[in-house]
Amino acid sequence: MKPQILVVEDEPPLVEVLRYNLEKEGYRVDVAEDGAAALDKVRQIAPDLIILDWMLPELSGIEVCRQLREDPESKDVPVIMLTARGEEADRVKGFASGADDYVVKPFSPAELLARVRAVLRRSISSAPDETLTYGDLTMDLAAHKVVRGKRPVHLGPTEFRLLRVLLKRPGRVFSREQLLDLAWGRDIYLEARTIDVHIRRLRKQLNGPGEADLIRTVRGAGYALDAEG
Ligand code: CA
Repeated sequence: MKPQILVVEDEPPLVEVLRYNLEKEGYRVDVAEDGAAALDKVRQIAPDLIILDWMLPELSGIEVCRQLREDPESKDVPVIMLTARGEEADRVKGFASGADDYVVKPFSPAELLARVRAVLRRSISSAPDETLTYGDLTMDLAAHKVVRGKRPVHLGPTEFRLLRVLLKRPGRVFSREQLLDLAWGRDIYLEARTIDVHIRRLRKQLNGPGEADLIRTVRGAGYALDAEG
């Protein structure tokens, strides 16, 4: 299915230019003429990308963007802001409101289409994987459930994050420091030994009686998810 793009712009000639060029590229196009209509449309059609004019009657593009970002339903929808101003302070304001990119008017259709493609590509590659699998192990990130074979695996929040890191790159050896960064975040200070405690807990839940150990300990290096472990 082709990506759906919502164009939010109140000037009919520009709307027509945008619609023509986007449809020619195969995108599905919907239009809203003001901010309130845009917010309604986003809820109705859940677009893949929004092209949002800064200068709109009543609600400004900046305000619309801010509201989109506050709503969990629309907080990740990519936004390209159209602006007639090229002032540095305005760009900063645009990005601060949560826009992913901006295009300064007047722009060529080719330039806008290039931005659209780039932003869509970025948003698709950063979309969270819903399910991670390895061997007989399945991790459903949306439902926060882990299953090995048919057996549900009950993990605490820390073990869940650790397993998610390991499952994203099966076979790769992660050092304790890397695991701290990836599963806890850089700002947390913990002793590397803490990792060992959580790995032990993770193993205990993950490996049922008679099942192969899915975690390989690499002496002096760290840990990997590896059925050969
Ligand atoms: Ca306008």
